[in-house]
Amino acid sequence: MHARQAAPEVCRECGTPHPVYEIRDVKIAHRGLEASVADIRGWFCVDPACEEIEFDESTDSLERWVAAGDALVLKERARAKQIGERLRRSRQTLHLSQVEAAALAGGGHNAFSRYENGGALPVAAVTTLFSLLERHPELVHEARALAAETQRVLMGEATDIA
Ligand SMILES: [Zn+2]
Repeated sequence: MHARQAAPEVCRECGTPHPVYEIRDVKIAHRGLEASVADIRGWFCVDPACEEIEFDESTDSLERWVAAGDALVLKERARAKQIGERLRRSRQTLHLSQVEAAALAGGGHNAFSRYENGGALPVAAVTTLFSLLERHPELVHEARALAAETQRVLMGEATDIA
């Protein structure tokens, strides 16, 4: 632990004068996940649009805030991996290649492999579509026809979705 540093005169992020010393529960967020870090001590910017905190160096506030952020990143990776494994199972059950699945999901050729590897998080519509198709595999043919039609519209080769 260090001694408490001198109070900052202005917010170093936005320059607003007189950040105020408080003890707050601070919310952190990472790709849709949120957590709260209790009892963060430091100087908070008084501009409500600014989230700058100068942490009190005589406390462990900064260390706990960083650790909570790291934990959130790990949690998000685990979630992406779990969703990816679920999508892979659906795709394999439906006997689709990754390229064929990407044609249904959109987002480019490599999108589906990134989803399956947990490197990218799909929008909810993608996971919903594959869950639906897994329950109703007889719709795969129709889904592929609709996706091909949509692709033609997007490419400007057709003007209307059938
Ligand atoms: Zn500020």
